[in-house]
Amino acid sequence: AKAHRRGATVCFAPEHEVRQRRHAAVEQALRRADLEAEFTLVYQPIVDTAENRVEAYEALARWTSPTLGAVSPADFIPVAERAGLVQDLTRSLLRRALADLRGWPAGTGLSFNLSAQDIASPENLAALSGLIRTAGVAPERIILEVTETGLMRDLGDAREALLALKDLGVQIALDDFGTGYSSLSYIHRLPIDRIKIDRSFVTSLRDDATSADIVRSVVDLARNLRLRCVVEGVETAEEFRTLRAIGCRSMQGYLFHGPVPARLVPSAGEAVLRT
Ligand code: C2E
Ligand code: CA
Ligand code: CA
Ligand code: CA
Repeated sequence: AKAHRRGATVCFAPEHEVRQRRHAAVEQALRRADLEAEFTLVYQPIVDTAENRVEAYEALARWTSPTLGAVSPADFIPVAERAGLVQDLTRSLLRRALADLRGWPAGTGLSFNLSAQDIASPENLAALSGLIRTAGVAPERIILEVTETGLMRDLGDAREALLALKDLGVQIALDDFGTGYSSLSYIHRLPIDRIKIDRSFVTSLRDDATSADIVRSVVDLARNLRLRCVVEGVETAEEFRTLRAIGCRSMQGYLFHGPVPARLVPSAGEAVLRT
């Protein structure tokens, strides 16, 4: 009966308690982490499908913790953000991404994810700017991705920070576009160059005929605002054809290539060109 009760306790442990314990474990491991040794970057091509070439590689963080094993960025980035640890991580990753970029062909850019906290602190913003200024690469090759949910917290401050980054000559991309609810009302007030249409739009193409119209209206909006537009999460040839018919040019997704380690970046590009 005792064993049974113990089993029952596990079964009925409230889900949020399990989440909190995991969150605490991730936070503790993050605080102790050796950023340079435990974190690496992988790169996923962003393909210009009209010219059939890789226009940029998006840097995506990977973490192998000695205590927790592999942890997904979808798990550790939000924890790092809430714990105030993301700025140190971002600087470490950006330094390495810029070093990788120096070894790539001149026509190939780097797309790099920033958290809202990264640009909210003037000190950190200055540190990131310093890395970009001294990187020894043309700043136009650098695209900084920010999410709309992060920017919404303080639009005025976000605008100032993005303008400061744009002064360096980099491009700004609004990531996960369409997942926030007030995108349309503020997008024209931010100094952005591109939008990345969230993967959920592509996913909904699979089972919903009307969602093609939604994607088309977002692509038209981007065009009217003179923004470049990238669609992420393209997995099938059918999605590719639908998106091309709508007028999407830049795409990213497993159909072309998943993320690869830095040393495989040129060959990943060649693989894309064969498809
Ligand atoms: P994201 O920036 O929207 O990145 C796209 C995510 O979708 C990546 O997951 C990528 O591996 C995955 N993906 C790419 N193509 C496909 C596809 O065709 N199908 C599907 N199902 N997924 C695809 P990942 O690497 O696990 O990253 C998750 C999120 O973590 C990222 O979403 C981003 O928000 C965040 N992240 C990753 N690295 C960093 C970083 O260095 N800094 C910050 N601030 N956030 C990061
Ligand atoms: Ca991104
Ligand atoms: Ca995204
Ligand atoms: Ca995302």
